[in-house]
Amino acid sequence: MTETVKSTNIPAIHQWHRPDWQQLTRQFSEQQLHHALLLTGNKGTGKQLFGQRLAAFLMCRQPVNTNPCGQCKDCLLFLAGSHPDILNLAPEEKSRFIKIDAIRHANSFLTNKSQMNGYKVVIINQADALNLNAANALLKNLEEPAPQTLFILVSDQPGQIPATIRSRCCKILLALPGEEQVKQWLMEHCPQYTSQIDLAVALSGRAPLLARQLLEDGGLEDRQKVLKGLVKLHKKQMSAADIAREWQSLDILATLDWIIVWIADLIKFKMSRDETAVNNTDMIVFLSKIVHLVLLDELYLNRDRIQKLRQAVIAGHNPNKTLLLEGILLDWSKCFR
Ligand SMILES: [Zn+2]
Repeated sequence: MTETVKSTNIPAIHQWHRPDWQQLTRQFSEQQLHHALLLTGNKGTGKQLFGQRLAAFLMCRQPVNTNPCGQCKDCLLFLAGSHPDILNLAPEEKSRFIKIDAIRHANSFLTNKSQMNGYKVVIINQADALNLNAANALLKNLEEPAPQTLFILVSDQPGQIPATIRSRCCKILLALPGEEQVKQWLMEHCPQYTSQIDLAVALSGRAPLLARQLLEDGGLEDRQKVLKGLVKLHKKQMSAADIAREWQSLDILATLDWIIVWIADLIKFKMSRDETAVNNTDMIVFLSKIVHLVLLDELYLNRDRIQKLRQAVIAGHNPNKTLLLEGILLDWSKCFR
């Protein structure tokens, strides 16, 4: 889902982000743009592209209306991924964190004069991955930035960013597209999956890039495997240990996420009996069959436990995957009377 800009043209802004784009570029031309923006919104909606494009717009020498021209020296450097006044930070691949060394590098980048006599932009993707030391090292520059400096922080979990950082940024909640708009976009970009588009839209929570990823990268098939396991355990057709072994090949975080979405659906359906509130739209029949057997308190406990396990996995704890999954399956079987 990471959108690095490496095409021959600067990609157009996603249609659902146009109003946000107009607003920010207007603020810039009126010299009202805050020096530190925190771009938030659901995962898989194109926030990174928005941030990259904003940096390109600030650098461009001859923008066309509110768009970078794609042809001036700055735009060409941007397209080559080598603009000297734009610095991109993101978690290191293995650690999942943005560490203090990266911020020290950003601080020295900001100390040097702009090489193109314009703005200097630091983009921090997945800003929620800043560890505490890195966040502290960033504070001073966020508080007293040099003129013509812009920070663009991007995060779908802004609550995980230290409050000291968050409070110094102007939070921009980027818009989510409407349901029809997402479907239309998916029909254009992956028409070979027409029959599954509705389900992907529901499961992604209307996040187009996430829905596309589900369709193209086998995410829907993995989810099917997870739900099949939960159903088989409920019907006592397979043991928890056997299902955990079957899930071995799946990505652990994705598996936990599918179970969390499933439990959230059960909770919502138990509380409201509202089919339109459910994300797993293809499972309504099964949900209707089991909903009266479900113990709500157990479901809440179960969900909280899985959230904690998820955090532990993200933090780099490496539990025994089979045992972890078997434990979750056993907890799931306790959710029924
Ligand atoms: Zn340009």
